[in-house]
Amino acid sequence: MIMPYRIQDVLGRIDRFPRVDLIHRPTPLRKLERLSARLGGPEIYIKRDDLTGLAFGGNKSRKLEFIVRDMLDKKADVVITWAGIQSNWCMQTAAAARTFGINPILVLFKTTDLPAAADGNLLLDVILGADIRILQAEKGKIVKSAQAMDLLDEAGREVRGQGHRPYLVPVGGSLVRGDMDKPLGAVSYVASFAELLEQMRSGGVEPDYVVHSTGSGGTQAGLVVGAKALTTGCRIIGISASDPKGPFSDDVLEIARATDEALGLGLEVLADDVVVFDEYLGEGYGIVDKAVAQVIRLVFQTEGIVLDPVYTAKAMIGLIDLIKTGFFKSTDKVLFLHTGGTPALFPNREKIVGLLEEKD
Ligand SMILES: *Cc1c(COP(=O)(O)O)cnc(C)c1O
Repeated sequence: MIMPYRIQDVLGRIDRFPRVDLIHRPTPLRKLERLSARLGGPEIYIKRDDLTGLAFGGNKSRKLEFIVRDMLDKKADVVITWAGIQSNWCMQTAAAARTFGINPILVLFKTTDLPAAADGNLLLDVILGADIRILQAEKGKIVKSAQAMDLLDEAGREVRGQGHRPYLVPVGGSLVRGDMDKPLGAVSYVASFAELLEQMRSGGVEPDYVVHSTGSGGTQAGLVVGAKALTTGCRIIGISASDPKGPFSDDVLEIARATDEALGLGLEVLADDVVVFDEYLGEGYGIVDKAVAQVIRLVFQTEGIVLDPVYTAKAMIGLIDLIKTGFFKSTDKVLFLHTGGTPALFPNREKIVGLLEEKD
């Protein structure tokens, strides 16, 4: 096996990709003392990528540092993307684009029983003045890439017809599709892995696992490449918020291999490097159930940290269940990556309050 790379070597390779400045780094990292004690399992740490700083924060703002730079280099004046109605990705893209004078068009699909009221991320999209186009989709399901890319192409033709230059970017800034011809979102998460490794090591701790919510795959792909390049055994565990693990793991692998190649690391990423659990989806993407409401309460009450109901709550449900079922050793150091998404808490207010009032 090849020796791990030095952090500086990997950061040097990432620096070949230009980026704009959108976030505060490093994001905070600390041990969750009370939650670790409460669960009686491994030592749990948290990295706060919910505090990146752009428009309520989240993993998408790291990705957008590279993606917005690519839009500017390609002389785009309109960005077109898509995702669910309460999408963090769409809101963050619109906010980042506006900051650089680029106009956002958002194709949003309404999947859950949520109303399309201007609340949470959709409120922010409205305030940003994004051109919002709403589609209907099945409850608990996400719209597939191919279907959405057709709609994006259509919007792209319209925008070109008006004399503008559009930039089409796939959901989450993950798969290499549309005008994004490099895995720029995942590259930003290789950098994030290097950042968290430096933080853990400066506290004298080597991470054994990183557990996080996975959706379009770019975050996980970047972390997998970072872990493989920089450590000898740190494993990345993705807890799916939307897809069954079979087809989804293939996406992560595809993005991870593209990232390895873009950085010229020669890692040979294997299917075994991609670990995804789809057991914690509950009733499906974006559907809030009792376990979600209760885990948000548990983490807020023990650590003062707010999880979101769509992604990070489900990842935490997964982490807790893996602890209970003996997946980790008690000496393991497990890092939970908080990927953001908290604006989606508010449109779910009635659901959450109702579920917390129910008796067990
Ligand atoms: C998008 C998102 C994720 C998943 O990240 P991907 O790179 O799309 O897999 C996780 N958590 C939150 C809060 C997100 O918005």
